[in-house]
Amino acid sequence: MINLLIMGKPGAGKGTQATRLLEHYRLSHISTGDIYREEMAKDSDIGKLAKKYISAGNLVPDGVTNDIVKEVLSKQDYPNGFMLDGYPRTEAQAIALDQMLADLGISLTAVINVDVRDEVLLTRMAGRRVCSHCGATYHVTFHPPKKDCVCDLCGHALIQREDDLEESVLNRLRIYNEKTRPLLDYYRTKGLLFVVDGELPKDEVFRVITEKLGD
Ligand code: ADP
Ligand code: ADP
Ligand code: ZN
Repeated sequence: MINLLIMGKPGAGKGTQATRLLEHYRLSHISTGDIYREEMAKDSDIGKLAKKYISAGNLVPDGVTNDIVKEVLSKQDYPNGFMLDGYPRTEAQAIALDQMLADLGISLTAVINVDVRDEVLLTRMAGRRVCSHCGATYHVTFHPPKKDCVCDLCGHALIQREDDLEESVLNRLRIYNEKTRPLLDYYRTKGLLFVVDGELPKDEVFRVITEKLGD
């Protein structure tokens, strides 16, 4: 089993790499951001609650997010391992995750940090487009769809995420620095952290990660 965490600032390319790593290692994807976007699309109680935080670029409270991850992990539906994407984002979440894994008798293989400077992130998020139906991610310049504004995979319309508008992006970066960045030391101390240069083209980033993890 390979159990990975993928970390990085908003827009660093976590989702992009996660999608490819999942295929390569046949991992199950657990993305808290995707789970919240699905709940918001369904307009469920969790979705309604999450929307208030997410549209402003704030974090959903730890208790809500921890409960969701705990439920998904406890199903043990990951024969080859899992990739956690966008979780943990706070120290309280990291501690909760350690407890969940200990209870399940599972350990992490590695924590990948996709490292990108803020200037680069702003361009990435301004150009990010996501499929309104399947969630696939594109970029107007770096990863354009074959046909303008249409998803290559399912043909539905591409949209800009509400939280990718500038004001919300700056808030997300501020929160990342305050709450999430300290987790890098947390995992470095455990000997699990692997930092990859996320400013390389996405195929290169993928190559560096798989070289490190092996086949
Ligand atoms: P990005 O890919 O831009 O880093 P995500 O798709 O992971 O963002 O998450 C989108 C939003 O969902 C976050 O800005 C936050 O509001 C909420 N969210 C996702 N994961 C978490 C988490 N682990 N804790 C709290 N809020 C979260
Ligand atoms: P995250 O999940 O970390 O928020 P995404 O994977 O959604 O990041 O990527 C953010 C944006 O940057 C997307 O529009 C994506 O197509 C683009 N992108 C991702 N990786 C790279 C890269 N290595 N070089 C250039 N653009 C990239
Ligand atoms: Zn699609």
